[in-house]
Amino acid sequence: MSEKYDLIIIGGGVVGCMIARWLSRYEGRVLLIEKEADLCMGASAANTAIVHAGYDPRPGSLKARMNVDGNQMWDQLSGELNFPFERRGDYVVAIGEKELPALDTLMEYGRKNGVPGMKLLSRAEVIAREKNINPEVSGALWATTGGICDPFGVTIAAAENAVMNGVEVLLNTKFDDFIMEENRIIGIKTNRGDFGCRWVINCAGMYSDEVMHKAGIRPEFVIKPRKGEYFVFDRADIAVDNVLFPVPSDRGKGILVTTTLHGNTIIGPNSVIFEDKEDRSTTREGLEEIWQGARKLVPSLSQKHIIGMFAGLRPYGNGPCKSPGIDYQHDFIIEIPTEVQGFVNLGGIESPGATSAPAIAQEVVDLLKDAGEKFKEKKGWDPVRRARPRFRDMNHEEQKLLIDMDPRYGRVICRCENVTEGEIVAEIHAPIPAITYDAIKRRTWLGTGRCQGGFDMPRVVKIISDELGVSPLEVTKKGQGSNFLARPTKQVEI
Ligand SMILES: Cc1cc2nc3c(=O)[nH]c(=O)nc-3n(C[C@H](O)[C@H](O)[C@H](O)COP(=O)(O)OP(=O)(O)OC[C@H]3O[C@@H](n4cnc5c(N)ncnc54)[C@H](O)[C@@H]3O)c2cc1C
Repeated sequence: MSEKYDLIIIGGGVVGCMIARWLSRYEGRVLLIEKEADLCMGASAANTAIVHAGYDPRPGSLKARMNVDGNQMWDQLSGELNFPFERRGDYVVAIGEKELPALDTLMEYGRKNGVPGMKLLSRAEVIAREKNINPEVSGALWATTGGICDPFGVTIAAAENAVMNGVEVLLNTKFDDFIMEENRIIGIKTNRGDFGCRWVINCAGMYSDEVMHKAGIRPEFVIKPRKGEYFVFDRADIAVDNVLFPVPSDRGKGILVTTTLHGNTIIGPNSVIFEDKEDRSTTREGLEEIWQGARKLVPSLSQKHIIGMFAGLRPYGNGPCKSPGIDYQHDFIIEIPTEVQGFVNLGGIESPGATSAPAIAQEVVDLLKDAGEKFKEKKGWDPVRRARPRFRDMNHEEQKLLIDMDPRYGRVICRCENVTEGEIVAEIHAPIPAITYDAIKRRTWLGTGRCQGGFDMPRVVKIISDELGVSPLEVTKKGQGSNFLARPTKQVEI
């Protein structure tokens, strides 16, 4: 094994990247591997982007503790890593008298879980706060600590801060198997060679069951993808100002109507168990289900304002809750198992996994300390990651200054979202270089407006090709096999 690390993290979703950022504080060599061409390509890429208050998970579960602790860490984290986050609060809305008792149950869960700032609202109070709500509303639970975030922003910011502090990241690198010495892990095999290490941390999301099985533990644990589909509405036609949940069912938190940090309303997700861990297609039935579910909360929603749709897959595990006295089969797994040495095992990190990610990272560090790992603080560790300029968020004076410094900020490439060439080039040369179309889209939000990339896509291909000095034929949407262009059709300069 040519390279040796202290710790290797498998998986570059929000959990793996947050753990990388937490570990970057200490001395030692840390490597994060991700099988895709960019970070944040799994569940962390397609979700509702809510920072949950924590009244939903079953009291006593690890999920409840991680949710509530994680939620409280977001203000400091967004300040240090400079990603947008708004603590707007959220509502669980009861429609009709029959749904009212569910609010009391959530209130009780919330109290037991230690959620601060919850209040029950009357029908009149809800109507006064949310103008478009179904007039049949009977009351709501209001949780002031709920928030909204940009999951890509969080994940990339955490990873960049980790890299600034010495963590190495390898993309397009797929974990294949462990290298063992008796029952101790001493390295991993990947498609890009073998790497030695003292610890491996399993953050493989949907595939975390397969990783733990290769380590020889929890053969009974399986992950099934649970699909959630969404509609995205045009920002110009704002339907709601708040986060509106229905009362939950046995299939989860239910189909909600929410605003996003980018100002678009989104509706979804439904919750359907599938077999195929890669199938992120939307279905006619699924979209019909979310439409009906969302209209129960906001009847005035209109389909003419829909500009996009997507689906995400929850890694729905059958991990039993370890807390005594509660019967709960779908808890997070965060453990250092005794059967194999050198392994931190995570699994079933479904919702509220994004909210919980900072608390999960702290939990992993604490587990490693308990296992005898001697962490020594790195001299000069910098907790701050600076954000790059966002042209559309600036006033005219700031925009002018930026253009004077670099005229590429004066060339708008995405007209719907007002994203400039300067911003695209900055992402291509960022600490985690964005070198596919989707990587740039997720970081700058270009291509997400009404034209859905129709205008900017060829220009972005050209910019990537120029900046990297590669042929436009080599530029991809999201990595190997997703090239935009197949062959030159005529001899013109492109
Ligand atoms: C529909 C939906 C709605 C949700 N809504 C919310 C919400 O509003 N709020 C909230 O807090 N949470 C929400 N969640 C949950 C949240 O998105 C997840 O809990 C969280 O993103 C999990 O992060 P992760 O890093 O564990 O997994 P992932 O983001 O899936 O990351 C795992 C990574 O591991 C990589 N990987 C897998 N196998 C290998 C391998 N062999 N080698 C190398 N890399 C590998 C994958 O490519 C992937 O990038 C939602 C999830 C879904 C799907």
